[in-house]
Amino acid sequence: MLIDLIEILQKEEGTKKVQTKVEREKFLAAKFEYKITDSDVKFVFTNAGKKHINVKCTGNVIIEAPCFRCLEPVTFTINIDSTKDMDMNKTAEEKIADLDEENYLEGTVFDTEVFVFNEILVNLPMKVLCKEDCKGICNRCGANLNKGFCDCDTAVPDPRMSKILDVFNQFKEV
Ligand SMILES: [Zn+2]
Ligand SMILES: [Zn+2]
Repeated sequence: MLIDLIEILQKEEGTKKVQTKVEREKFLAAKFEYKITDSDVKFVFTNAGKKHINVKCTGNVIIEAPCFRCLEPVTFTINIDSTKDMDMNKTAEEKIADLDEENYLEGTVFDTEVFVFNEILVNLPMKVLCKEDCKGICNRCGANLNKGFCDCDTAVPDPRMSKILDVFNQFKEV
């Protein structure tokens, strides 16, 4: 959602509340697909004087992503609670130097989608696991080893091994 902050800037006590949802439905991170299944995000913009606007964003985003080891879908919630000061005096060049702000603010137009998406990425867990000791899948037949043994003789579920693979995969993804 795009919000023009010009009205808030022009009023000394200018303030605006907006409730919205994340528009995008999915995204890729570390080669895994993350689905945004639901969201509820609130913004409060306040004129902080001297052409500064304070933005406070709070809310929840429900995400579904595959477990990094066994690929079963895992649902988790990201809580957003972020406050930022936006300096509207900045010239275009100064904004480019401040990449963070540049991206969700164009002139006086604020993009809630970009802001929330930044927050999602910052708060994303390093790795999604269905449970800490997830045994992963058999690398021969693909059976989910949390659901029991498969018939492959090499498929001795060793949690130490799955952790090593996990670390190894993470390195590859970076
Ligand atoms: Zn798992
Ligand atoms: Zn197997």
